[in-house]
Amino acid sequence: MLKIEEKLRKEIEARRGELVALTQDLIRMPTLNPPGHGYLEICEYLDKRLAKKGFETELIRAFGTPGDSEKYPRWNLVARREGSNSGECVHFNSHIDVVEVGNGWSFDPFGGELKDGKIYGRGSCDMKGGLAASIIAVEVFIDLVPNYVGAIEISATADEETGGFGGVAYLAEKGYFSPEKVQHVIIPEPLNKDRICLGHRGVWWAQIETKGHIAHGSMPFLGDCAVRHMGAVLEEMEENLFPALAKRKTDMPVVPEGAKQSTLNINSFHGGLSEPEDGFDGFPAAIVPDSCKMIIDRRYLIEENPEDVRDEVVDLLEKVKKSRDKFEYELHEMWQVPPTMTEKNAPVVSAVAKAIGEVFGREPQYVVSPGTYDQKHIDRIGRMKNCIAYGPGILDLAHQPDEYVGVNDMVESAQVMALSMLDLLAPRE
Ligand SMILES: [Zn+2]
Repeated sequence: MLKIEEKLRKEIEARRGELVALTQDLIRMPTLNPPGHGYLEICEYLDKRLAKKGFETELIRAFGTPGDSEKYPRWNLVARREGSNSGECVHFNSHIDVVEVGNGWSFDPFGGELKDGKIYGRGSCDMKGGLAASIIAVEVFIDLVPNYVGAIEISATADEETGGFGGVAYLAEKGYFSPEKVQHVIIPEPLNKDRICLGHRGVWWAQIETKGHIAHGSMPFLGDCAVRHMGAVLEEMEENLFPALAKRKTDMPVVPEGAKQSTLNINSFHGGLSEPEDGFDGFPAAIVPDSCKMIIDRRYLIEENPEDVRDEVVDLLEKVKKSRDKFEYELHEMWQVPPTMTEKNAPVVSAVAKAIGEVFGREPQYVVSPGTYDQKHIDRIGRMKNCIAYGPGILDLAHQPDEYVGVNDMVESAQVMALSMLDLLAPRE
């Protein structure tokens, strides 16, 4: 007699073809975001499949969230299946949106072609492969452990690639991720089949504007150039801020290595006349720019205070102000998400770590993501701390041309997911 663990793994292996077909179906629905194309179609497809398996399903439109319109409605699916007895709930959350295709493809981005054990297409790795793996894992688990206790939930959510406001944030606000309802969350983002992602660094976006005075370009001394003022800000950043950030290291296990420190990206920079329209071949007018704007994207560590992140930039601007005549600036904070990291001994982490040990015969690698993902909303709005990202696929392939997901990786991570459910929801004698 095979042990139940072995039966689960064997059955998932036996459904390899079904897993491939499901992934291909999902890739062939081009859920591009922006603008947020085809959300209803993919939610209805999943709804039909999960309802057949005994799930109670809900289609939820995030009315009034950014981008929601009659043309591009923000649809989400939440499906729940109760077990034989009350207990805890394991929730798998996947985003259904994919980013734009871009150039450089040698495969049809929405063809879902299978070649040499890899399925190609936009969203294959990020994260329709993970969504498909979690569905197969859940279906096999229900078939082989029909008397499980507690509940299983699967959600397919909109807009992760644009901040998640019409997806997980909206659902969290409506109570779908409250600790009374959901106890364990696994987000099958492509972090690799043997790694557990505990959380992410913090993020702070702001716009700095320097002000000047417009004048004729032949007599710049009669005006005041906002771009030169911004130049002084950049110089101060180069000389002091960037070196200081590079020295600030974290104990969070962030990957890749280069992100184990504070970082700042200059996202955009603009001063003076606007860019001419394509095809315009006239000359620019002679003016002194009276405004210069720079958008910064600062990623920070769990060891840093959110207030200090802001104050550091204010101090820098004040320092420049002291050294320059007529220097004026405005700082406009855009958005902010604090860092989050689930404890290594949290129940969902232990269950997945044990399952990775069973499937791969080794300890998992614990990682933290350089950028944020939907865990931020589950943590902050949903007040749910027992949450990780775990799923198949190589993170570096996300958003790239010829994105793919490996079929073996999907099979093995589906096995890990099923064994994790067994650990968390097995009937107790
Ligand atoms: Zn993703």
